[in-house]
Amino acid sequence: MSCIFCEIANGNIPSNTIYEDDLVRVILDINPLSCGHALVLPKEHSKSFLETDEAMRNHVFEVAQKMANRLVDVLNADGINILANCNEAAGQTVDHFHVHLIPRYKDNPEKDGFSFVENHIEKPDLDALCAALKTE
Ligand code: AMP
Ligand code: ZN
Repeated sequence: MSCIFCEIANGNIPSNTIYEDDLVRVILDINPLSCGHALVLPKEHSKSFLETDEAMRNHVFEVAQKMANRLVDVLNADGINILANCNEAAGQTVDHFHVHLIPRYKDNPEKDGFSFVENHIEKPDLDALCAALKTE
């Protein structure tokens, strides 16, 4: 089964690459949510952050930190969101693990179209949730 991010990450489809090493490629998003919106793509396929192995997870986030700092510095951004959508319900549209780097520009709608819509749910039973979730 062909995967577009496998093809891009491995250089078989051209992209605006801002960093590459043996394991990952960082590209500019073709449909950016802000100026400098970039994606960290592992060269090896896994479906999402939930499935990726430890070594790749660590390397992807090491590169994500380095490139996030570079984006902020070079583009004079005021902040940056770093996120990985996992599964369709969370907004994942390409089933190949990737990390978004979305530089943020305060009060600058021309450079920044990203926002979280905050609709708070009714507060669940936090003690019960905590008991169910707690782990070593
Ligand atoms: P997600 O919704 O988390 O799966 O993110 C997929 C992202 O990939 C979106 O922001 C798309 O704009 C971006 N995208 C899809 N195809 C390409 C492509 N060929 N080159 C660069 N970015 C792409
Ligand atoms: Zn893939």
